[in-house]
Amino acid sequence: MRLSPRLLSLGIACLLATQAQAETVVLEGARVFDGNRDAGVQTLVITDGVITTLGKAPATLPGDAKRIDYRGRWIIPGLVSNHSHLGNTNGTEHGDRHYTRAVVLRDLKQFQRFGVTTLTALGMNGPAFFALRKEVHDQPRLGAQLYGAGAGIGVPEGAPPAGPMGLASDPVARPATPEQARAAVRQQKADGVDLIKLWVDNLGDKAPIMPEAIYQAAIAEAHAQDLKVAAHIHDQAPAAELVASGVDIIGHGIRDTPVAPTLVQAMHDAGTWYIPTLTIDENTYAFAEHPQWLQDRFIQAALPASVKAQWSAPGWADTQRASAGAEKARRDVAMNLRNLRTLHDGGVRIGFGTDAGAMPSRVIGYSEHRELELMTQAGFTAQQALTTATRDAAQLLGLDDRGTLAAGKRADLVVLEADPLADIRNTRGIQAVWQAGQQVAGPVLAMDHAPVAAD
Ligand SMILES: [Zn+2]
Repeated sequence: MRLSPRLLSLGIACLLATQAQAETVVLEGARVFDGNRDAGVQTLVITDGVITTLGKAPATLPGDAKRIDYRGRWIIPGLVSNHSHLGNTNGTEHGDRHYTRAVVLRDLKQFQRFGVTTLTALGMNGPAFFALRKEVHDQPRLGAQLYGAGAGIGVPEGAPPAGPMGLASDPVARPATPEQARAAVRQQKADGVDLIKLWVDNLGDKAPIMPEAIYQAAIAEAHAQDLKVAAHIHDQAPAAELVASGVDIIGHGIRDTPVAPTLVQAMHDAGTWYIPTLTIDENTYAFAEHPQWLQDRFIQAALPASVKAQWSAPGWADTQRASAGAEKARRDVAMNLRNLRTLHDGGVRIGFGTDAGAMPSRVIGYSEHRELELMTQAGFTAQQALTTATRDAAQLLGLDDRGTLAAGKRADLVVLEADPLADIRNTRGIQAVWQAGQQVAGPVLAMDHAPVAAD
């Protein structure tokens, strides 16, 4: 008999409530994509949140092992996002005033329900970030495991633009001298960030960009503190200068010009990571261009009611479609896809991220699955896209306990209804999400959207 997801989660909740000793869970019958390849139908034995067996079921199991029948299902590692944001949107609004415990946990839970079990909040985090990071690391049921860059380091009067991003109390450090840049890095290290985020150029606008002397000082200090540096760019010129200066991660796709062979070679040789965030621009016009997408149940499950209402209102789609921003965004997506193909073909290390959560249009959860689909439009096979979003994304963060499924790894995994290697869109058929050996979410289409009160 196959248990219904509701019974299953109730059963596991009871088990957890009553059992303080070693807990063994056995997931049987599913076909496993282990982060590298299709491993075939395998049994997963999980004890205390860690995979102890991936293969044939052991001859003996503890008598109280919980067995779950996943015949006909697929299991993939939990997705890892290298570039997202949280606590910055509430319905149709955004800004740092939303960075509260309730909103951050709501966002972490939404990432988790959509299969993202580890995420990187790449800047614009409020002071509550550090306590919340610890809280969710201790309690997987609260939401995805959180890593991040704290507030990040930007440019005086430049990126991230305080007005458009709604940064009323602006948590971002904005050093004016190299020594201030070094001090900002040391402060963030002391606060407990996982990496350093630099905003170098501002979405290709004419706003001041971060001077070379500032980011070189920040990169040198970060490396002295054993921290990687991710940089926000839009254009190729600053990206090339950053790579030459030893930046570890380019945080967005290059969207102004086709990437030069010299830069491909330089990134390949230096091992620089590249996070394309293909959806960041597509999200600005896609829902206006395809109003029927709003009827899609998977997208509906990701959208707050107020956003759904705004995007369905008479005239909204026409205005968005005709805007100059939409025209630019279409060009940016085309260039981003083209450059991703070039960089991937050139052997550059690709990370996984979307910028979801920075604005209401960058829809948490939905964006990650759309990003996988867009990667296949840039020439990735479904398997390469999935490997990028699991094994490689974990490697970018320096986390060797996850990203693949094998004995000794964390039991962070997503149970799917159909084969994601046959069609990448099958990652949307989420039946269950497990994090640290606990089932933390059921079918994504059963999600509800309890509004979070502003405080
Ligand atoms: Zn971002």
